[in-house]
Amino acid sequence: MTRESSLGLVPTMGALHAGHLSLIRRARSENAAVAASIFVNPLQFGPHEDLAKYPRTFDDDCAQLECEGVDLLFAPAPEEMYPRRHGIGPQTMVDPGAIATRLDGASRPGHFIGVATVVAKLFHIVQPDRAYFGQKDAAQLAVLRQMARDLNFDLELIACPIVRDPDGLALSSRNRYLSEAERRIALAIPKALTHLQMRICDGERRSSVLLREGEAEVRAQAGLALDYLEVVDPDTLLPVAEAVPGTLVAIAATVGNTRLIDNFIAA
Ligand code: AMP
Repeated sequence: MTRESSLGLVPTMGALHAGHLSLIRRARSENAAVAASIFVNPLQFGPHEDLAKYPRTFDDDCAQLECEGVDLLFAPAPEEMYPRRHGIGPQTMVDPGAIATRLDGASRPGHFIGVATVVAKLFHIVQPDRAYFGQKDAAQLAVLRQMARDLNFDLELIACPIVRDPDGLALSSRNRYLSEAERRIALAIPKALTHLQMRICDGERRSSVLLREGEAEVRAQAGLALDYLEVVDPDTLLPVAEAVPGTLVAIAATVGNTRLIDNFIAA
């Protein structure tokens, strides 16, 4: 697809921040037109998760998208995406299989079925040539790459680097849940990852050692509950014994009621 006629899509759940905007700018630079979507997808939230209180800042999001020169915004209501027919909600789901049970999929059962289903629908509705996703959600990227391959979506998936605040915390719509004290606690997440990145640079590639050290760093931080720290293949999300170049080191941890994720790709 030539740049002159191509369409780039940036799917989001709104509450936009500079991470989202980096995806939009990348899409802008590589396509003739850019579409963004804002949809807080109920299918990807578990029953005890934050669907109801997920930040919704629609007017502010629209202003930012306009500033960035986005050509088209798709912001459907839940009933539009998932109409009830004969009194029942959506029945057909996209199940990515085993990969959907790894990393976040292990702690959030059904999450990636919800993600794959909504993204498949967005791809069909918007028909982009390229779709842009953040490396921040590394497991999501792996699931969607597999889905696009398995279901023959005729588009390119583009992974964009993680955007961070100056203190190192990866930007996330959920950061606005954090109190000042919680935010300070959350900084142990990028700190642990930086430590592991440096250990890998210094030549320590054994996953067992990296995991032991990383887990010790996180557990030393009071108020931070580790959900997972894993050294995995970035395509299958299966654990690997050594962090070779390209290996994904991913973490999820909870501060108060806020679950945060972060990762890096080993050099
Ligand atoms: P969300 O609105 O959280 O579903 O995110 C929409 C897209 O923005 C996803 O592809 C995310 O991976 C991406 N994204 C979220 N946070 C960041 C970040 N800090 N840096 C880069 N991309 C991000």
